Amino acid sequence: MLPSCYLCGKPTTRLAVANAQYAYLSCSSCGFRMLHPVPAPADEDGLYNDAYYFDQGLEVGLDDQTNLMRGLIQGRVQKLTALNGGPGSLLDVGAGTGLFVEASVRAGWRAIGVETSPAAVRIARTITRASVIQGRVEELSFEESFDAVTLWDVLEHLPDPRAMLIRIRDLLRNRGIVCISLPNVAGIKARVLGNKWRYFRREFGHVSHFSPTTLATLLGQGGFVPEQVWTSGSFNLGKPFGLDAIDIRERHRTLAILQNFADDTAGHLNLGENLVAYARSN
Ligand SMILES: [Zn+2]
Repeated sequence: MLPSCYLCGKPTTRLAVANAQYAYLSCSSCGFRMLHPVPAPADEDGLYNDAYYFDQGLEVGLDDQTNLMRGLIQGRVQKLTALNGGPGSLLDVGAGTGLFVEASVRAGWRAIGVETSPAAVRIARTITRASVIQGRVEELSFEESFDAVTLWDVLEHLPDPRAMLIRIRDLLRNRGIVCISLPNVAGIKARVLGNKWRYFRREFGHVSHFSPTTLATLLGQGGFVPEQVWTSGSFNLGKPFGLDAIDIRERHRTLAILQNFADDTAGHLNLGENLVAYARSN
């Protein structure tokens, strides 16, 4: 017999096989999808080793990032600063090489990161010089409450994302802010590509697949009220010409205008590829 749905608890799950590497439980009541069987946290640690960071060219600090990436990170810091009414104290969970911590500190925040990957923490120490502790936030204690906790591309990797939100709520001050980003399983790309959607591939290590609706439900269960939830991004229009998102924006003005239009339209319809939520503890 299959387990009940993690999110809504109903026995309305069916096993959906995405490809040879991957099967998930899909709930017909709430639409939530979760990897089946759910891996142990330790099974996932091997995904983020030195090779991962070096192969992807991730071993560089904020100033050496592309304009696109730096703009994305700084935009997130600005949004958070506005919601918090100015800089404050911040914990970045799954901090990677510390880029968001670095950008936050530059904007006046007192920021630290927590990261499970030793490779990422080494890069953080030598390249971004951000304060990133190696460990699991479930096992660490902190002296102060935070104004904000960020989970950039983290929640979808966890076997128990609700437990993480409950832990974060404990770490936040009253009405503290949690910020989340992850891929949108209800977005245009996932809808069109079906089982071929890239984030169904096992190498990404994604355990859960959220839509704006299922993420809002989980936030409520964790003790948060969503304040802003939106999606952005769509198909890369330059792909048929061998261009990536950076080529388009930095070298092809007309295509960049079309790409921005496509991305904005997908976002307005809640069909964007990337899902971002800012929520406050209640
Ligand atoms: Zn469900």
